[in-house]
Amino acid sequence: MNLRILGSGTSHGIPVIACACGVCCSADLRDRRMRSSLYIRGASGERAVIDTGPEFRLQAVQAGITRLDGIFLTHAHADHLHGLDDIRPLCRDQPMPVYAAPNIMEEVRERFSYIFKDTQIGGGKPRIAPIIVSGPVRIGHLIFTPIPVKHGVLDILGWKITEGTASAAYITDTSGIPASSFRLLERPEAVIIGALRNRPHETHFSFEEALSAAAQTETGRIYLTHICHDHSHQEIEAFCRRFRHDRGFTGIAQPAYDGLELPIP
Ligand SMILES: [Zn+2]
Ligand SMILES: [Zn+2]
Ligand SMILES: [Zn+2]
Repeated sequence: MNLRILGSGTSHGIPVIACACGVCCSADLRDRRMRSSLYIRGASGERAVIDTGPEFRLQAVQAGITRLDGIFLTHAHADHLHGLDDIRPLCRDQPMPVYAAPNIMEEVRERFSYIFKDTQIGGGKPRIAPIIVSGPVRIGHLIFTPIPVKHGVLDILGWKITEGTASAAYITDTSGIPASSFRLLERPEAVIIGALRNRPHETHFSFEEALSAAAQTETGRIYLTHICHDHSHQEIEAFCRRFRHDRGFTGIAQPAYDGLELPIP
């Protein structure tokens, strides 16, 4: 399978509106970060995304997305969900399966109440087939396994995507991964993990915390995502190099960036 980072930024997106900091003004395209999302292409033609943030339309056009077999949600924060209306061109023929945990689907129904009401309010609305997730979901030859994690006090989901013997984990927006969830990960080929910044944060991992947690899965490839404007791509690369050196981590550890393609395995 192939994974593409559709967006690698935190909730503001980078550049941040009205910010004149060095990162927001950077000429390095890797410092331009749309809201976090992942596009998954299976070897047998399966197509899915994790989360539909506010830039979903732009991301879908740039990535050449022409159809999706399903949308997997991590949680209902605006930066992960509010592009959901833009899936309309992708669900003309049949309703789009949207997979989420019960608490998150409840929020989707509230935010997008017009989608679920019979009354037509003018304009179009997406056709959605809400599917509550209680265990692994199969799409073609891909298996999506929900990975419960903590996001501050919230219980949200990461996702493990498995194709044959290879798997990758996508865990954004977390401040804690329970031991039972580590056990579900079973040495993924790659881990894409939220790492807001160097300084600690109540509801997000710092670079150090994210790298340590990812290394604990015994993966060989770590990619940081959901990054804020405190540090440039180059600075985070240097941070990752120090981590690899200090911890004796011999695999890949680097910041993700928008458009990054990751073949798995
Ligand atoms: Zn977020
Ligand atoms: Zn800035
Ligand atoms: Zn969040």
